[in-house]
Amino acid sequence: MINVAVVGAGFCGLAVAWSFLQPDRAHTPKNVTIFGSQPIGISTSGIAAGLLHPFVGIYSKLNHLGFEGYHATEKLISIAEKQMDKPVAARTGICRIAQTVSQRSYFKKASELNPGHIKWLEAEEMSAYIPGKCDSPGIFINTGMTVYAPEYLQGLWLACQQKGAVFKHQQIHSLQELSDYDVIVVAMGADCTVLPELSHLRITRTKGQLLELNWPKDLPPLPTAINSQLYCIMSQENNHCIVGSTYEKVFNNTEPNLEIAANELLPKLNSLLPILEGAKISACRSGVRASTPNRQPLLTKVNEECWVISGMGSKGLLYHALYAEQLVQSIWTEMKGKG
Ligand SMILES: Cc1cc2nc3c(=O)[nH]c(=O)nc-3n(C[C@H](O)[C@H](O)[C@H](O)COP(=O)(O)OP(=O)(O)OC[C@H]3O[C@@H](n4cnc5c(N)ncnc54)[C@H](O)[C@@H]3O)c2cc1C
Repeated sequence: MINVAVVGAGFCGLAVAWSFLQPDRAHTPKNVTIFGSQPIGISTSGIAAGLLHPFVGIYSKLNHLGFEGYHATEKLISIAEKQMDKPVAARTGICRIAQTVSQRSYFKKASELNPGHIKWLEAEEMSAYIPGKCDSPGIFINTGMTVYAPEYLQGLWLACQQKGAVFKHQQIHSLQELSDYDVIVVAMGADCTVLPELSHLRITRTKGQLLELNWPKDLPPLPTAINSQLYCIMSQENNHCIVGSTYEKVFNNTEPNLEIAANELLPKLNSLLPILEGAKISACRSGVRASTPNRQPLLTKVNEECWVISGMGSKGLLYHALYAEQLVQSIWTEMKGKG
């Protein structure tokens, strides 16, 4: 029996646990324990706006391993949906408005390179996606999804639990507390450097805040997520919208700060969707993204028993499933090599 500890119950921790619980060729029995300082669903992953597509970034270029990541996440979404017996994502696409001349030319090129995924829209065609007048062209990413993060996490956790995983609501302060485990995977997102053994990792922390606004009753819901200088996404029940996000490099604490979020987001929202001016703010949420110097996810081995997965930045949904799968594969390969 191999005893596995996964520290963290966000997108990465649950995807790692799920990968460990899949049968390996040697059918090695495994005990998987997930540790979380917060209950499942309460983490940066739990507040993520939910945008999932492989063209993240200012110019909508195909991301490194973008399709591979997208398809790996799609599989986990289906597993979560089976557990929840309902959709955990809206497959309604994402509309991106080109705001600058260079964005226009890159967006157009992206639509030519990926015709099955991206459609170029002239300014007048935008009105099918955006209420009110839009003076700019853009693209429609038809394979883009909005994932309902708390439901997805819950479904993925139930799938892990069904395969025997156990969750312990416990804060870990040092790897020494986990010395009884054969394998430790740290999936603590932006917090992994608080462990003394991981304090050397080069992780940058960026706080992000979202506002939730009541959706006016007399307005039809947005047909798709909109992503421009900020994003606006309908909630699952279509009774409010989620608007984000801030990117705060300097912050005193990780708690939501309504004043900072509203000052940054509302002027942009009013220029994108003036019809929402005066809509009531019903919530403000915050989380912290973890980024690496090269902006790619971090998979690293710390010692004979411990590995780290972090650095998902703004692409946690795109990359968590793929990188978790890769990490678990390489851990097994290494363990088999040792006999
Ligand atoms: C406002 C905002 C909006 C976002 N929107 C999107 C989006 O639309 N699409 C997208 O792809 N990405 C989005 N992201 C990014 C995404 O949320 C992250 O990439 C992702 O959540 C990272 O997942 P993770 O599992 O690595 O870390 P986390 O979700 O941070 O999980 C860390 C886990 O570790 C646990 N933990 C921490 N410390 C300890 C400890 N000492 N002991 C035990 N457990 C511990 C926590 O409880 C948690 O369970 C957004 C981020 C923010 C801030």
